[in-house]
Amino acid sequence: MYDDVIAFIRKTYGNRERIFLHDPYFGGNEERYLSECIKTTFVSSVGPFVDRFEEEFAAYAGARKAVVCVNGTNALHMAMMLAGVRSGDEVITQALTFIATCNAVSYIGARPVFVDVDGDTLGLSPAAMRKFLEAHAELRPDGCFNKRTGARIKACVPMHTFGHPVHLDELAALCADYRIELVEDAAEAVGSFYRGKHVGTFGRVGVFSFNGNKTITTGGGGIMLFSDPELAKRAKHLTTQSKIPHRWEFVHDETGYNYRMPNINAALGCAQLEQIDYILSSKRKTAEEYRKFFSGKPGFEFIGEPAECRSNYWLNAVLLPGRKERNEFLAATNDSGVMTRPAWELMNRLDMYRDCEHGDLTVSESIADRLVNLPSGVRQA
Ligand SMILES: *Cc1c(COP(=O)(O)O)cnc(C)c1O
Repeated sequence: MYDDVIAFIRKTYGNRERIFLHDPYFGGNEERYLSECIKTTFVSSVGPFVDRFEEEFAAYAGARKAVVCVNGTNALHMAMMLAGVRSGDEVITQALTFIATCNAVSYIGARPVFVDVDGDTLGLSPAAMRKFLEAHAELRPDGCFNKRTGARIKACVPMHTFGHPVHLDELAALCADYRIELVEDAAEAVGSFYRGKHVGTFGRVGVFSFNGNKTITTGGGGIMLFSDPELAKRAKHLTTQSKIPHRWEFVHDETGYNYRMPNINAALGCAQLEQIDYILSSKRKTAEEYRKFFSGKPGFEFIGEPAECRSNYWLNAVLLPGRKERNEFLAATNDSGVMTRPAWELMNRLDMYRDCEHGDLTVSESIADRLVNLPSGVRQA
């Protein structure tokens, strides 16, 4: 019943037995930079590629500073700490996200609060957040508080779902009004722009992931972007066991973390970043082909980039009429070697987060029931 869709995807991705959702693409200096690490013995957490990757990624995204991490989840954990989130606080985020967003909040002993997403961005809705705050928030001299739970609402973490930017200007204005820190989970959004500005540069901290299935990969890895150099300095300190730099003394001034990205991973990152334009243009071409194909196909709604945004189209997605059709489509595609997958189970439906505060989640629920991600990897030049 979905033979034409499967044939189209097979034609797009060429003759392969299994077509993955998003496999890595290595078309540049990856091997050369890796062997440089081995030849020089700089394979671990200090080395020239670490500094170079931080500088080049910050320049690419138009941020003042960047600090790398072992992975995106660690980077989010650090971002929560750097935004001043403390145990007992609440953090507003979306229920339609990958678990890492909520885990980072939990590591601190804080609790997520879920508000709905917008249908055009699949990310945190400014209107839904305003509605929640108007009903539940109270501004006091020491911050914004949830009247029902008594907890401080310290931060807001929108996530740019599948690389589509959320309505950042509206969210930033709302956060400013309520004195809530904005931290972007831009893990999926390397190469995505909102009104001409790279995402991850709108709040106190912006976080990206370079996991193997992301737009560019370092094997495993993450990065934080900052406009405040002092905060970046503190990020470096915290991720380096909070060691006071010294030629031989080992003195640490607080409980730190070993969240440093090794030089071999940063070497991959430098090679990948050199190819970002090709990677993004290949993904954009695929998205355009999907859009055209599905525009004439009843029962499928292709998710395009939001207005005034440029999406990296990390994972292309379609909406089917309901859960039943979604499940049939997932079965048909995966049975024939074309990898597809549904959206994540909503966070408020998981045991750990069932009791969390939340607003109306109608749009999140509809998307979670109906969405399927399609193969979206980079095609050979
Ligand atoms: C990939 C991802 C992360 C971070 O993942 P890591 O695998 O730890 O690098 C965080 N949030 C979202 C939404 C993601 O998709």
